[in-house]
Amino acid sequence: MTGCAMILENERKKVVEFGKNLSISGLCRGTSGNLSIYDPSCGYIAISPSGMDYMTLEPEDITVIDLDGNVIEGSRRPSSEWSMHAEFYKNKPGVRSIIHTHSVFCTTFSVLGMPIRAVHFAIGAAGTGEIPCAPYVLFGTKELGEAAVKACRNSNAVLLKNHGIVCCGKDIGSAYSLASNLEYVAELQYRAMSIGTPQYISDADLAKVLEKFASYGQ
Ligand code: 13P
Ligand code: ZN
Repeated sequence: MTGCAMILENERKKVVEFGKNLSISGLCRGTSGNLSIYDPSCGYIAISPSGMDYMTLEPEDITVIDLDGNVIEGSRRPSSEWSMHAEFYKNKPGVRSIIHTHSVFCTTFSVLGMPIRAVHFAIGAAGTGEIPCAPYVLFGTKELGEAAVKACRNSNAVLLKNHGIVCCGKDIGSAYSLASNLEYVAELQYRAMSIGTPQYISDADLAKVLEKFASYGQ
């Protein structure tokens, strides 16, 4: 830092704040997972650094990169999943923030290669009645990002086989809320499957849920 203004300062502060929330809520244990915010006006991404404890992060630790992974500002190596984040920003219009976690219940379904389904209307926050699962690909590769975007299709979230989940949002608040809601839905599905056969919301009822979610909130 040379005394000049920090690039994407507000975005970096938000990445720090929501990174701590991920850690405190238990959605991200240790240094698992990563999060970013994209600013299309300059084409830069503010992304969490690789392998650092969320609770220790300062805005300076958040790396600013472009969509090709060139470091624009920051001394930390960006998340090993930077290319997966970039792949979503390049391919999904309107996505401004990505949160990737290994949260336990979502990851349990990813281990089974089984989608998260409409056991509760809260799934509607994803914009689809099912969270699909992308095939297994090595972490930290461009191929993982490509497989994830392809499997995600029109949903705001996708499971990564034997790995975790990626949640997209129009801002970091919605990406965080989706990560939290889908962990809840996955826990319900897991618990319901443990003691019986879950009853899923019908397609007709689901269509109404999705319609309502499109205009939900303030
Ligand atoms: P980073 O610490 O490099 O972001 O990696 C964590 C992770 O979840 C890899 O998939
Ligand atoms: Zn991961």
